[in-house]
Amino acid sequence: MANASINHLSAQEAQVEIQQLQDQLTTYGIAYYEKDAPLVEDHVYDAAYARLQALEQAFPQFVTQDSPTQNVGAAQTKAGLAKVVHPVPMLSLGDVFSLEELGEWEDRTVKALGFQPEYNAELKIDGLAVSLKYENGRLVQASTRGNGLIGEDVTANVLTIDSIPKQLQEPITIEVRGEIYMPKASFVALNEERENKGLQPFANPRNAAAGSLRQLDANETKKRQLAAFIYYTAEADVLGADKQSDVLLRFAELGLPTNTTNRVLPKMAAIDDYLATYTAKRDELPYGIDGVVVKVNDLDAEVDLGNTVKVPRWAIAYKFPPEEATTVVRAIEWTVGRTGAVTPTAAMDPVLLAGTTVQRASLHNPDYLQEKDVRVGDTVTLHKAGDIIPEIGQVLLAKRPADAVPYPIPTTCPACGAELVHVEGEVVLRCINPTCPAQIQEKLTHFASRNAMNIDGLGPQIISQLLEKGLIKDVASIYWLTKAQVLGLEKFQEKSANNLIAAIQASKENSAERLLFGLGIRLVGAKVAQTIMATMKTIPQLAQASAEDIVAIDGVGQAIADALVAYFQKPDAKRLLAELQQAGVNLAYQSQHAEVNPDSFFYGKTIVLTGKLEEQARPAVVQWLTAHGAKVTGSVSKKTDLLIAGQDAGSKLAKAEDLGITVWSEADFTSAKAAEEQATS
Ligand SMILES: [Zn+2]
Repeated sequence: MANASINHLSAQEAQVEIQQLQDQLTTYGIAYYEKDAPLVEDHVYDAAYARLQALEQAFPQFVTQDSPTQNVGAAQTKAGLAKVVHPVPMLSLGDVFSLEELGEWEDRTVKALGFQPEYNAELKIDGLAVSLKYENGRLVQASTRGNGLIGEDVTANVLTIDSIPKQLQEPITIEVRGEIYMPKASFVALNEERENKGLQPFANPRNAAAGSLRQLDANETKKRQLAAFIYYTAEADVLGADKQSDVLLRFAELGLPTNTTNRVLPKMAAIDDYLATYTAKRDELPYGIDGVVVKVNDLDAEVDLGNTVKVPRWAIAYKFPPEEATTVVRAIEWTVGRTGAVTPTAAMDPVLLAGTTVQRASLHNPDYLQEKDVRVGDTVTLHKAGDIIPEIGQVLLAKRPADAVPYPIPTTCPACGAELVHVEGEVVLRCINPTCPAQIQEKLTHFASRNAMNIDGLGPQIISQLLEKGLIKDVASIYWLTKAQVLGLEKFQEKSANNLIAAIQASKENSAERLLFGLGIRLVGAKVAQTIMATMKTIPQLAQASAEDIVAIDGVGQAIADALVAYFQKPDAKRLLAELQQAGVNLAYQSQHAEVNPDSFFYGKTIVLTGKLEEQARPAVVQWLTAHGAKVTGSVSKKTDLLIAGQDAGSKLAKAEDLGITVWSEADFTSAKAAEEQATS
């Protein structure tokens, strides 16, 4: 395949080829969709598109907004998926970027209508638009926006999204529209998996969602855990609704996923509070947002206002200002991960970005670092990719110190000095020394981490001390630690030593999917570990299983099966298992944990409920949270991750605010819960 040679391209060669392919595909796309006169056969288009995607993945710095792979426009629609004509065009909304412009839009609207309308404000979800057609309540077609007039048929893929009902609660015929998105948790997990496999991570959840929805193989889409919010229909009369806010309520009655954070505004001035609320909560939402959509709530008024050629007059998108900061890079650090991947990270002067202090940003891999050409002393712009991950945007060359030099790529492991290797087909550098201390440190840290064995108090610093003193050497040896040994470490006293030993002992009782994940086998994430153990029941049984047996488990692919078989064949792994068993570590799966999804936003969080809940019974909320892996406790402390405050919340709310603990209203919880239920199968 063409991909093989990408590794040998220089950045300049790649840039030239990317530009050529972008131009070519745009021309093909226009001919195909707008002129309905294809210039080339489908497979030629597909091959060029695949080549462009591969190049852009390897050289993400050359991905432009108007690339056919990025752009929601004619050229994005690729051959391979069937075309769908939208009888009512899928218009995109007009954008404004300031409150002044929003005020001007209101002035025009009031003037056109001759009266002051009320508005419905909705969060603008960072995903991609989709149209769903239901006939007599049955989902018959799903399509992307495409160029607004013609989109792609993605029915097979949308059928794999659990939150989108195949059958509505009422046998009606209607076309509805909404946004398909990738929840932040799924995005983080997907990118981790990609980095593990040596693939370039997706830039943001929107790109990841678009790429996932437009897979030619629906099974691939299913794995990506997409979710949706439905927010529009041109046929509100079918629903008997005359307000946008009622349309949303009717959608919910029909079983369609809706986002319940919308708010009816009597006039535009009321938007200040809505904006303030969701600007502050943006980081905590389980999905990415990039602004707020304001719609005239009265649907008769909506019809009166109508559309311009390009955009509706009855709605406007207020885009959050780009959250960007500039700071100075002080060092580039190379860290060795538990799989041996050696990754550069920029250490920068601390800077406040979208609500959190940021001082580190991953530079992913040597290619990425070289293309961005980040140097020590450089002033760089920072933003949060997809609302979550700090990322360096660009180097401000005008501020570059005269003596700055390109950062050298190491040839040996910074931890053990072993020669680094570039594994074929991967973008990362790896240390393949099995006794590399940095890898051992990372393996142990992973083993003790919250989603693995969850050993409270056994963090990286303690592990590092234990390794230095030769008290531990691998994960099994953690279970041989004595209180006397722990007391010999810095800062440990009677009580803290007792606590650590107790936490280690308690972890022996964990259900075995935690151990399997904790072993840090390549490609075996927390969720996969759970899926496997639900079938295999015990680690020894899994260790004896063939790749065929493992692949037979629904949701487990060949690569994972091969990685497991290879792992358990190693003499070291056999010895480790025997030692863990001897130490009394539970190797069996306990089925009562079966439903807990470790990707859940609530997983492992300590949550307190207070005040009066209006929409749902408290025991049901507690049960739901527990089932999603949260620990619900009665009092607020520094260990509390989240307070859900109903009506008339009192001292607990005050204490949480004092401690700076995240506080949610019941409505926030309801929307997060809805998003979560969509995201999981
Ligand atoms: Zn090493």
